[in-house]
Amino acid sequence: MHRFFVDYIVNSDEVIIDNINDVNHIKRALRVQIDEKLEICDASEQEYIVSVVSMDEQIICNVIEKRLVSRESDVLVDLYQGLAKGSKMETIIQKSVELGVHNIYPLLTKRVIVKLDNKGEKKKIERWQKIADEAAKQSKRSHIPEVKSMVSIKNLNQALVDYDLVLIAYELESSRSLKEHLVEGVKKVAIIIGPEGGFESEEVETLVNNGAHSVSLGPRILRTETAGIAMLSIIQYAIGDISQ
Ligand code: SAM
Repeated sequence: MHRFFVDYIVNSDEVIIDNINDVNHIKRALRVQIDEKLEICDASEQEYIVSVVSMDEQIICNVIEKRLVSRESDVLVDLYQGLAKGSKMETIIQKSVELGVHNIYPLLTKRVIVKLDNKGEKKKIERWQKIADEAAKQSKRSHIPEVKSMVSIKNLNQALVDYDLVLIAYELESSRSLKEHLVEGVKKVAIIIGPEGGFESEEVETLVNNGAHSVSLGPRILRTETAGIAMLSIIQYAIGDISQ
């Protein structure tokens, strides 16, 4: 059964799909027919099984079944990901969306190799947002994570106050302190992952001086595309919605 997000549900008996891209996709690509069933969800975590009644500029559907399904963790985790080369960012975005990430911030650090001009950055962000949209649909999430504009360590330092907990995965960190930070009551977390080349020690120092906790992800060196996914999984298991 095809699944679509709508911004709002008009009322609990009828759903109107008026997003032009969705309308065209449903009519031309999926060739959905009248009376066919669709799964519709909106940002309120309501899910509806509907039957298509008419298809013009808008697609009108009757609600057959309505259910409240929460697929969003009540621990909000933002990923600050050191800009990685090639298609790694697409893998990181796809997997972190499946694991319940809230928003993703591409992070520019000293050892980032990728160089993008404004036009290149805009194109990449659009491509990555599409990956996030598709992953959110596939994993049946009611929140579509946003891929934000690139941030530097400097503007990250200013944003740290917004979080209950900030964890920087540092490959040279010796203490295994991740576990002690994942306690009940933590509701808004930022996780910071370095690029392929890792972090400069002074980058870690400025973040720690601004309240971040440097943590180890164990004795092995993980690839940048593994580290964020591992950390997100551990957090969802320890205080999020994987262990429930
Ligand atoms: N160039 C670094 C080196 O060879 O030591 C490795 C960097 S690693 C490929 C990329 C990022 O993954 C690191 O900056 C860190 O954020 C994270 N990471 C990888 N392994 C880790 C570990 N064992 N503990 C903490 N963070 C780790």
